[in-house]
Amino acid sequence: MYSPQHVLVAGGAGYIGSHVCKELSRRGYVPVVFDNLQYGHTDLVRWGDFILGDLGDPEQVRLAFSRYPISAVMHFAAYTFVGESVAEPDKYYNNNVTCTLNLLRTMHEYGVDRFIFSSSAAVYGEPKVMPIPEEHPQWPINPYGWTKFMVERIIDDFGRAYGLKSAALRYFNAAGADPDEETGERHDPETHLIPLVLQAAMGLRKNITVFGSDYDTPDGTCVRDYVHVADLADAHVLALEYLDDQSGKGNAHVFNLGNGQGFSVREVIETAKKVTGIDIPVATGERRAGDPSRLVASSDKVRKVLGWTPRYADLEQIVKTAWDWHRKDSNKDQTS
Ligand code: UDP
Repeated sequence: MYSPQHVLVAGGAGYIGSHVCKELSRRGYVPVVFDNLQYGHTDLVRWGDFILGDLGDPEQVRLAFSRYPISAVMHFAAYTFVGESVAEPDKYYNNNVTCTLNLLRTMHEYGVDRFIFSSSAAVYGEPKVMPIPEEHPQWPINPYGWTKFMVERIIDDFGRAYGLKSAALRYFNAAGADPDEETGERHDPETHLIPLVLQAAMGLRKNITVFGSDYDTPDGTCVRDYVHVADLADAHVLALEYLDDQSGKGNAHVFNLGNGQGFSVREVIETAKKVTGIDIPVATGERRAGDPSRLVASSDKVRKVLGWTPRYADLEQIVKTAWDWHRKDSNKDQTS
């Protein structure tokens, strides 16, 4: 009898994890969300069962594997604030590396050999070439980036030693929201450009501050590669299927996840003005420490090897889905 594959989604109550759960479910998998709810939200767990648990507690992790016939793991549970990682490296290495090791150890114990890892463009550090290919040298410039770098090394070694098959997906700037408005971005504190611009549009903050206007870019503001979260989700399922097709053991793959297209902070703000029809107040501030002027992915590998084609590569679509979600989500707060 056919039984659908259960995929443990660590951090599945968060922004990217919840979109991936939706996509897994749509493609016939059974997501099982494991989340400590420090940054996750139960109302975003809409696809599959939920286990309240912490990766820091090996017993809680074991419980998930003993309760469900897990055949693969996707791991989104990490701290992501770069500045905080500089101020509190212990917290970051513990959560992002040690807790991941607990998860990997338990997978090994239960014979689960497929792992999809949320990595980051932060593993490259200051880019030397643009767009950035996967073979670009890796020298992160903050502890957050090093935690991602270290987990990539660990899963590579687990592959060689224990036969773990893995894909590390190096995200560029995840943005947008589920086009059906069933899930979306809700960070507290919010530090990302697009949600902050939209908060300014809604009057929830007085303006958006552009962090630096003297970069060596066409309009002087930083350029980033914004990739729609639904396209990210799609890539995760493609990566899982790719690992399934790989014969042999111990394959550690890495893929950039970006559209290969850069937009400046000013272009994002102009797009948001157009999408919302609101003249969003803009202030210009100092550069934010640690921001490279340009980060654009080479997306050749993910397109070629996984057959990934982004459906929402257009910046206007990305901002529009985010805008629809933020309006809906803020109304929910007022009515609940
Ligand atoms: N940014 C900005 N004002 C803000 C937040 C972000 O100008 O209030 C800029 C930031 O300097 C970067 C870009 O927007 O160049 C994207 O930043 P975000 O924090 O969204 O993502 P990151 O690139 O840091 O992962």
